[in-house]
Amino acid sequence: MTKYIFAFLLCMSIAIQSYGWGFYAHQRINRLAVFGLPPEMIVFYKHYILYLTENAVNPDKRRYAVDGEAPRHYIDMDVYGDSALYKLPHHWKEAVAKYTEDTLQTYGIVPWHINFMKYQLTEAFKQKDVNRILRISADLGHYIGDAHVPLHTTENYNGQLTGQHGIHGLWESRLPELFAANYDFFSGTATYLTDTQETAWQSVAGSHMALDSVLRFEKELTKQFAEDKKYSFEQRGNITVRVYSQAFSKAYHRMLAGQVERRMKASIKMVSDFWYTAWVDAGQPDLVELTKFDFTEQEKQKLEEEKQQWEKRHVPSRPHESGLFQLPSTGITSCEHIHIIGDEGIPSILMSVRRRKNTFSESNALFE
Ligand SMILES: [Zn+2]
Repeated sequence: MTKYIFAFLLCMSIAIQSYGWGFYAHQRINRLAVFGLPPEMIVFYKHYILYLTENAVNPDKRRYAVDGEAPRHYIDMDVYGDSALYKLPHHWKEAVAKYTEDTLQTYGIVPWHINFMKYQLTEAFKQKDVNRILRISADLGHYIGDAHVPLHTTENYNGQLTGQHGIHGLWESRLPELFAANYDFFSGTATYLTDTQETAWQSVAGSHMALDSVLRFEKELTKQFAEDKKYSFEQRGNITVRVYSQAFSKAYHRMLAGQVERRMKASIKMVSDFWYTAWVDAGQPDLVELTKFDFTEQEKQKLEEEKQQWEKRHVPSRPHESGLFQLPSTGITSCEHIHIIGDEGIPSILMSVRRRKNTFSESNALFE
């Protein structure tokens, strides 16, 4: 069996997607958001900056273990037709009354969930519950980040409806990984938000407006690149992986004219603003005294369980978000390398390969 898996790894072309911003970008967003906070808050948040950074991707890990987690990361605006931004009630209860909760859950609930998390964070501050403050702050940063990704506002989330498979990982993982080191993330200090629900919708609106360029530029550029120039191979650990080439990524990044940087920067600012607003609404509790907190054994165990659940991945989600893979639009079904777009790392590839058994006949042949 092992040798078949190995053969499979070598012979299949795989596109592995990440979800929301890639792990790298989510972690950067949560980390940098700390520096926008006022002095009364920064003492506390800096003290736990490692936690906030490392756990910026928890919601993505949970989506494999928790029913109902997946829709919190996106909203398919296009299924509601033109002017969805105006048609969709911005407040949850009204939206449920108009469309039913089932419908909303089917097409994603990210803007409402952000606001829900904000209220939870305010409550955690009121109770001075450090454990909850940290968990919710990290999660909230994640959902706000996701709301800033244009491909999280469409049913065509991975270009699967337009022959652009893989674009999700290209925009949100490949580009930040290649170019974010040169971004200017300074966005000033946090400001109080008078209407957090409306602010959450503004982030979705900004993302949805950027969607047209995201898809169109990739399509235009693809016409200018031969297949072997659009993709290249890179070493990840012991495995050679197929990625969008540096040249293609660079050209696409240039066409987008700072779009990825702007969306990432806006995410950072909004995360600071939400953390700050929740704290103000809770009556500005003294956070200095909370820096002596250490996680209980129970909490540490919970974090560990969450990690393990992620590795098992028993809750199915959308294909591009499951860490499973789709053959790229090129239709390549056999080659000498693994095609990875995203940043999940080798263990995920191995797991995904095992789960792929029922997905494609080519892989069945190898496994049986
Ligand atoms: Zn996500």
